[in-house]
Amino acid sequence: HPLRSHRAPRPCRALPLTCRVERTFTAIKPDAVNRGLIGEIITRFERKGYKLVGLKLVRPTQPLAETHYAELASKPFYPSLVQFLCSGPVVAMCWEGKDVVRTARKMLGATNPLESDPSTIRGAYAIDVGRNVVHSSDAVSTAEREIALWFRPEELVEWAPTSLQWIYE
Ligand code: ADP
Repeated sequence: HPLRSHRAPRPCRALPLTCRVERTFTAIKPDAVNRGLIGEIITRFERKGYKLVGLKLVRPTQPLAETHYAELASKPFYPSLVQFLCSGPVVAMCWEGKDVVRTARKMLGATNPLESDPSTIRGAYAIDVGRNVVHSSDAVSTAEREIALWFRPEELVEWAPTSLQWIYE
């Protein structure tokens, strides 16, 4: 099947050449883990039709958190952001599917939960910007960097859900 999993993104034969199967890095932050929201968040991605290819519970070290948020190092909230990410377990995930990077961001909602539509994850489950329950890569290039930062290659599982033909035409 053209949408069967593969290591490097490549054009889908059955779809326009501009469509590529892509992967994103999504993380359930320590606030959501402590609040018992892991299942709720994973369920939204499963029900959308995206394929889980990486999943683990991680207690991030400070260097991992600093590297993950390196682009925000000049921001005043950077130290507290890094400290927060290290404050408890994080569920690190890699999701795969058509347009998953952009769509996952839409499913998350705005960075500030009070600005998020209530139908989004942040809009439904969060209030403060520093406790916005979930992360997802903001671009395909960022996703590649973040997947490589959080996962070893052998931790990403190649598999073809039997449901694919009922999700993609
Ligand atoms: P996003 O997570 O939506 O991609 P950013 O990359 O801009 O947003 O910021 C990373 C994280 O830093 C946010 O998810 C949020 O938890 C935190 N953050 C962003 N802006 C602020 C702010 N003004 N004050 C406190 N924390 C912030």
